[in-house]
Amino acid sequence: MEEKRTIDIATAKMLEKAKKDNVETAWDRAEKMRPQCGFGETGVCCRICNMGPCRIDLVGDGPKKGICGADADVIVARNLIRMIAAGAAAHSDHGRDIAHTLHMAAEGSDYDVKEPEKLKEIAKYFGVKTEGKDIKEIAKKVAEKALEDFGRYKGLVAYPKRAVEQRQKIWKENNVWPRSIDREIVQIMHQTHMGVDADYINLIQQGVRAALGDGWGGSMIATDISDVLFGVPKPIETEVNLGVLEKDMVNIVVHGHEPTLSDMIVQASQDKELLEKAKEVGAKGINLVGMCCTGNEVVMRHGTKMVGNFLQQEAAIVTGAVDAMIVDVQCIMPSLSYVASCYHTKLITTSPKAKVPGAIHIEFDEEHAYEIAKKIIMVGIENYKNRIPEKVNIPEEKSKAVVGFSVETILNALGGSVKPLVDAIVAGDIKGAAGLVGCNNPKTKHNYYHVELAKELIKNDVLVVLTGCAAYACGAEGLLTLEAKELCGPGLKKVCELLKIPPVLHMGSCVDCSRILILLNELAKYLKTDISDLPVAGAAPEWMSEKAVSIGTYFVASGVYTILGVCPPVLGSKNVTKLLTEDVEKIYGGKFAVETDPHKAAQLIMDHIETKRKALGV
Ligand code: SF4
Ligand code: SF4
Repeated sequence: MEEKRTIDIATAKMLEKAKKDNVETAWDRAEKMRPQCGFGETGVCCRICNMGPCRIDLVGDGPKKGICGADADVIVARNLIRMIAAGAAAHSDHGRDIAHTLHMAAEGSDYDVKEPEKLKEIAKYFGVKTEGKDIKEIAKKVAEKALEDFGRYKGLVAYPKRAVEQRQKIWKENNVWPRSIDREIVQIMHQTHMGVDADYINLIQQGVRAALGDGWGGSMIATDISDVLFGVPKPIETEVNLGVLEKDMVNIVVHGHEPTLSDMIVQASQDKELLEKAKEVGAKGINLVGMCCTGNEVVMRHGTKMVGNFLQQEAAIVTGAVDAMIVDVQCIMPSLSYVASCYHTKLITTSPKAKVPGAIHIEFDEEHAYEIAKKIIMVGIENYKNRIPEKVNIPEEKSKAVVGFSVETILNALGGSVKPLVDAIVAGDIKGAAGLVGCNNPKTKHNYYHVELAKELIKNDVLVVLTGCAAYACGAEGLLTLEAKELCGPGLKKVCELLKIPPVLHMGSCVDCSRILILLNELAKYLKTDISDLPVAGAAPEWMSEKAVSIGTYFVASGVYTILGVCPPVLGSKNVTKLLTEDVEKIYGGKFAVETDPHKAAQLIMDHIETKRKALGV
C-alpha cells in the first residue's frame, strides 16, 4: 500500500510507522477527500461574490453562467490568475523581506554583505553607481531601489531589462512588462472582483504581467540579494533523505522558505555554548537538517543535509527523532502541529505571517537575529531528553549529493562563458536542457515523476537542472552525484566527465528558478537569439502550490515550453485551455502542455528540443 504512495523507501517505511502509531498523513487525508469535486477540479466554481457560490454545468442541462452572467471562460480565467496572484505574492513578499534585510545589513545588524562583487553586479541593473562608493552605501541604495520596485508609482520593474532585447520587445508590445511587483498582484485582485473584467484573454494577460513581476522581479531580487547576504552557492557535498537524522544528536529541522532565518540558525547551530549545552543533555552534538526550500537555501550555501521534500514533512516527525522543527513561511502543513503532538517534537513557528495553533511561537526579528536563533535551538536541545525511545525509528536510507550550482558556478565550471555548453549542444553531445521544478502532490506517486523524467532525459543526453522539491526527489535517488553520469547517454556522460559535474544540477530553491531564467538568458545572449529559440524545456512534474502556477506562467512568458504533470483547474474552459496550450505560443514562443506520464513527457521534451535544434540549424 505505502509503495503505491511513494517510490522512496524511507518515506514508505515512515508511512507504515505512521499507520502503526495511528497518525494520519496527507496521503490518508487525500484518500478521504476522493472523489474530489469536479467543479473545482475543472475551475468552474466561483465564490467571488456572495450571490454565489456559482458553478457551471459542463455536461448536463444545468447552468452555463453564474448569477452575474460570468461564463466558464471568465470563471476559469479569474480563478487561475488569482492563483498566480497568490504565488507571485508569496515569492515577492519573500523578496521584499530579503531586500529589507540587506537594508538592515547596510545600517549595521547581525547580517553583512558577504559578496560585494555580486552586490556591485546587481547595482548596475538598479542604476546604482558603485565607483568610489563604500560597500554599505551601495547596499543601502540597492536595497532601496529593490524595495521601490515593489511599489513604484511610475516607471517599470528594473530586472526585466536583463533579458535579451527580443524578449523585452515582446513584453513591451504585449503590455506585460510589470510596472511594480505589488501593483500587478493588486490589479489581479481588482480585475477579478465581481463585475470587473469579463474578457478571459485580458484576464490571462494580467496574470502573465504579475507572474513576470515574480520571475523577473520578486524571485530574482530574493535570489540575488540572498546571494549578496549569505554567499553565492558553490559546489558542495551533502546527503539527502530521512536517513540524515541522527540517533545520538539533537535533530533540528528547518522548514519553510526564507534564508534570513535559516542562515542564522546554521550559524547558531555551530555556537560553542549551544554545542556544550547539547552535550550536557547527553547528545553528541546538534544535527541541523533542511526541508523544502529553506533546506535548499542552506544546502546550497553550507551543505546542510537535506532531510526531505514537501510530502516528507510529516514523515520526518514520524521518525520520532526530530527534537524541534523550526518553520517560517510557505508549504508548512497545518497538520504538523497534530503530528508533532503524537511524538515529542516541538514545532516552532517564527513568522508573524504564519502561526499554527499548538506550535510554540518564537517570533524572529532581524534586529535580534542571532540571539533569537540561539533561543530557538535551545528549545530543541532541551527537548532531546523527552524523546520516547520506543517511538524512535530513523530509516537508514540516504544518498550522497553534490549541490550548489548557481549560474556563477556553472559559468565557472565552463571556464567563464557559456561557450563550451553551446559547443556541446552544437556538437550534439548535449541535445538540450530541461528544468525540473516544483512540489509533491498526493495526486501523483511521491517523487516518481521527478525521478523518471530526470532519468529519461539524461539517458537521452538532455542536461537537467533542478530547483525546489524536485531537487530532493532526484537527490534521494542519487542523481545529484558524479556517478550518475553512468545513467546518461554517451554525449552527456562525456561532458559530465570533462566538467566534473553531475548530469542533474541542483540550482536551489523555488525563488532560484530565477537562476534558470538567467542561465537561459545567457545562452540566448551568446547565440544572439531569443530564449524561445533555445533547445530547452521546463516541467513541473508534481506541482501543487500557487507559487508553481506563477513559476510556470513566467517560464512560458519567457519563451519556455513547460509541461505540467498535474492538470491545473482550467479544463472547464475550452477557450482558456486553448489559449494556454496553443495560442500563447504565437505571442511568447512558449506554451503549456499537460502530460501525466513522465515517459511521454520526456518524449514531448525531446521532440521539442529536436524542433528547436533544427530551427537553429544544429
Ligand atoms: S461573481 Fe458571478 S459567478 Fe462568481 S459567485 Fe458572484 S455571481 Fe457567481
Ligand atoms: S517546490 Fe513546491 S512544495 Fe516544495 S517548497 Fe517549493 S513551493 Fe513548496
